[in-house]
Amino acid sequence: MLRYLLLAGAATLVSAPTLAATQAIIAGNLIPDAATGPTGPAVILIEDGRIKDIAKGTKNPFQADTVVDLSTKTLVPGLIDLHVHLTGDPGDDFRDEAVNPDEWGVVIGVKNAALTVKAGFTTVREAGSAQNTAFVLRRGTAEGRIIGPRIIAAGPALSIVGGHGDVTGFRTDVLTALASGYTCTGPVECAEKVRKSSKSGADVIKITATGGVLSQQGRGLEAHFTNEEMVSIANTAHSLGLKVMAHAHGARGIEAAAAAGIDSIEHGTFADEAALKVMKAKGTVLVPTLMALEGVRARLGKGIYTPTVEVKAKQALEAAGRQVTRAKAMGVAIAFGTDAGVFEHGSNGGEFALLVKAGMTPTEALASATTVAAKTLGMENEIGRIAVGYSADMVAVEENPLTNIRTLEKADWVMVRGRIVP
Ligand SMILES: [Zn+2]
Repeated sequence: MLRYLLLAGAATLVSAPTLAATQAIIAGNLIPDAATGPTGPAVILIEDGRIKDIAKGTKNPFQADTVVDLSTKTLVPGLIDLHVHLTGDPGDDFRDEAVNPDEWGVVIGVKNAALTVKAGFTTVREAGSAQNTAFVLRRGTAEGRIIGPRIIAAGPALSIVGGHGDVTGFRTDVLTALASGYTCTGPVECAEKVRKSSKSGADVIKITATGGVLSQQGRGLEAHFTNEEMVSIANTAHSLGLKVMAHAHGARGIEAAAAAGIDSIEHGTFADEAALKVMKAKGTVLVPTLMALEGVRARLGKGIYTPTVEVKAKQALEAAGRQVTRAKAMGVAIAFGTDAGVFEHGSNGGEFALLVKAGMTPTEALASATTVAAKTLGMENEIGRIAVGYSADMVAVEENPLTNIRTLEKADWVMVRGRIVP
């Protein structure tokens, strides 16, 4: 027996933590699906990280190994943020890129993964990092070795030479040393970079379809890739079963990306009627990331940004939020994403109030971070709802978010894949 215990103890040192066999969660008020709304008290049975059964009412009918009492809370599906950068923090100096090794991003990422899941975000899409940092974080949270959300990771973004995803702002020999290896010119090379990304372990392809606000590239915020390049990227990714997320601010870049078959437009700052019309026709999803601009607003004019960045930031701030109002009016799907990393990780929930301010209902805002985001990931049968067979990803909050959306800014209790976040 002693020998068995010693062996068991030794085994736990090298393997990931195991889950309690069964858990019963008593919820004061259950919102199983944003569209359903609150359904009253319920008890949820969890086994092997999945929702096994749900009983209505306050009485626990299940024989579970552990019971969690959340009878004073509202339980909602785990939240999904489709646009985060776990390996970076706001206000980082762009010159850090030439100083810190990639491994430093993992240290920052471990910290930020914990902050993110504690804020109620049980799934995130990592929208651009160094070659392997987001991928090892993804493995770390999946195996339960570090605290964090489920991570769907892009790895390095594809960019044009000198574009938003290409390092700029240093002398040329330094730039050569810092190159990510993911710039491309022409449909053939761009297809090759999609395949390279897939081979490296990307779950999704990220491209920078237009200029970006916080990079040192001084070519504004308009379209970067040619139509032929974007068609090639979309078709190649789709042939590998991967979706494409395109960073895009300028209207013509948004329109061209949607027309090319890109799956989601990130930011979409200057989306006009013509661009949104193509998005609607093609089923392209808008991921607005309004929190990013709040982070930029707080840092503008304080000598934090270079003059190149200040110019672009001012342009983007003038348009902030309008794309959401327009997209809703035109029936374009809006999914939740924040660009955390541009602002403090863990404040992702601030996006909800901004979406509502821009014209979405609380129900639509909650759906954007649950069912709509899950569908955008192609994971609508796995996450985004509290339903039998789904991953046990759940968040307890103080109030009903459909009457007070800001209650989603603070999670009181979080479970991801059946593990309670400590
Ligand atoms: Zn981003």
